[in-house]
Amino acid sequence: MAMHSAVSYPLGRPACKKDAKALQFIEEMTRNVDSVQEKVLAEILSGNANTEYLQRFKLGGATDRDTFKSKVPVITYEEIQPDIQRIANGDRSPIFSSHPISEFLTSSGTSAGERKLMPTIQEELDRKQLLYSLLMPVMNLYVPGLDKGKGLYFLFIKAETKTPSGLLARPVLTSYYKSDHFKTRPYDPYNVYTSPNEAVLCVDSFQSMYSQMLCGLLMRKEVLRVGAVFASGLLRAIHFLELNWQQLAKDIASGILNPRVSDPSIRECMSRILKPNRELADFIIKECEGQNWEGIITRIWPNTKYLDVIVTGAMAQYIRTLDYYSGGLPKACTMYASSECYFGLNLKPMCKPSEVCYTIMPNMCYYEFIPHDSANHGTISRDSPPRLVDLADVEVGKEYELVITTYAGLCRYRVGDILQVTGFHNSAPQFKFIRRKNVVLSIDSDKTDEAELQNAVENAASILRPYDTSVVEYTSYADTKTIPGHYVIYCELHIKDPTNSPSKEVFNQCCLAMEESLNSVYRQCRVADNSIGPLEIRVVKDGTFEELMDYAISRGASINQYKAPRCVNFTPIVELIDSRVVSVHFSPDAPHWTPERQRLEV
Ligand code: AMP
Repeated sequence: MAMHSAVSYPLGRPACKKDAKALQFIEEMTRNVDSVQEKVLAEILSGNANTEYLQRFKLGGATDRDTFKSKVPVITYEEIQPDIQRIANGDRSPIFSSHPISEFLTSSGTSAGERKLMPTIQEELDRKQLLYSLLMPVMNLYVPGLDKGKGLYFLFIKAETKTPSGLLARPVLTSYYKSDHFKTRPYDPYNVYTSPNEAVLCVDSFQSMYSQMLCGLLMRKEVLRVGAVFASGLLRAIHFLELNWQQLAKDIASGILNPRVSDPSIRECMSRILKPNRELADFIIKECEGQNWEGIITRIWPNTKYLDVIVTGAMAQYIRTLDYYSGGLPKACTMYASSECYFGLNLKPMCKPSEVCYTIMPNMCYYEFIPHDSANHGTISRDSPPRLVDLADVEVGKEYELVITTYAGLCRYRVGDILQVTGFHNSAPQFKFIRRKNVVLSIDSDKTDEAELQNAVENAASILRPYDTSVVEYTSYADTKTIPGHYVIYCELHIKDPTNSPSKEVFNQCCLAMEESLNSVYRQCRVADNSIGPLEIRVVKDGTFEELMDYAISRGASINQYKAPRCVNFTPIVELIDSRVVSVHFSPDAPHWTPERQRLEV
């Protein structure tokens, strides 16, 4: 294909005309980071000048950075929660945005145990779409021929609710998959999925997964890439296949869809796709019936060139398992995004997971960065607030906490992510995702912080009290050796009267009590998505935590300042503590969860 010779493509040769436009857009944006950012801030501030929120800070119509930075405070969710509640309760005045709030996006970050509600506006969908449209043009630079087959992507929607005033509240991907942007996307040969929309858009996770897997099996030779949003989602799909391959093979042999898939629109569309195929059914039985699942992905989908899943941040814990199932296929982390805003993309998606960095797109929102060194831990003192750094001014090697100002009206909002600058593409900085602040445990999209863990342990401890038993020390561990992974809480106990010690049943109830006290994202993963397994308590021998302390001190920790870690992941420590386990207990039931929020009216 002849490309215009006068245009140069520093990123590489585009695969088609549409890609050329996308790559050029990336070049334009990344060359002009500072001026794009200035323009974005001016657009946001002038567009939202009449909002109640901005009026509070008396900007007097100013749209420049200096005025903005000197008058508008840096905030967290808790500070705007009362205003968000007013919107949820029906206040339609322009509080954050001069545009009507189209819906709430429910973040996997929580506040008081419930998902945070992020107000959004209609036009944000276009911005998200724009970022999505850049992903395949970049991928096509590295993987040729993706127009010759399909992508097997396990995509899911989650339950949605309405606020008291009737606004929808749902996760950002549910909002996107249900939008016309996704449902009526124009045909693009580079972006054809095996999953029909009907299967993606079914809220029942079994029926959705079953039909998506079935389509993937039926089209197995056409599949060129296999993916899910996060690594945990892809592993869940593989586990699903382990549990359901016999029924899937039966459906394929007979051409008759499993009656458990009852959704009429899925049944209708599967009737067009599913035809009896004995040979394929036999192949699936042959591959799945043995104990050996190593390389199962490449055995069933032999033309897979890469896995499209995020394995950065908390998802890095799944890399080894993915390698096991895929024979070490490349794992492409394509983008970095959140409910609040989509941020950027990986310009070298086929790089190793440890080298993934995301190039922030300056057109998405206005970014600022709180320098985050080990001394200040990102604390902001009221007397001498640090000067936040602009996108164009961050320095290579340094860590920062991300602060954003969005078109939907969040102003100087702390996202909670810690990023490190690894380099630049043109003048756009590239960031490695370091971690989410204050998260001790995460298996899927759940994020449990220290306070939530502490609260869970206290609730379990109250069940032990009648047995004169107390929790002396505890720590936790995200066990991802099982699929799905699960939380492990190690407890050292003081049992006053061993003749009246708690029974196994009592410990099981402690597990459940902990689960009941964890946040709604955890409970949703447990109940609706089955993406987290039952919580486990491992009771350890007396003196185990002292041994842990000795170990830490032998490695240089200060005796005075030593605190038991609330989460362990360093292998020698986990091995030490595991060797001291005296009993293990699992949650006997699923905790309560409904899509309804507990605290919509405050
Ligand atoms: P949510 O608000 O539920 O949409 O979750 C957004 C959060 O997920 C971000 O703030 C990050 O902490 C995390 N996240 C999103 N994309 C990535 C990524 N590519 N790598 C690591 N973490 C990510």
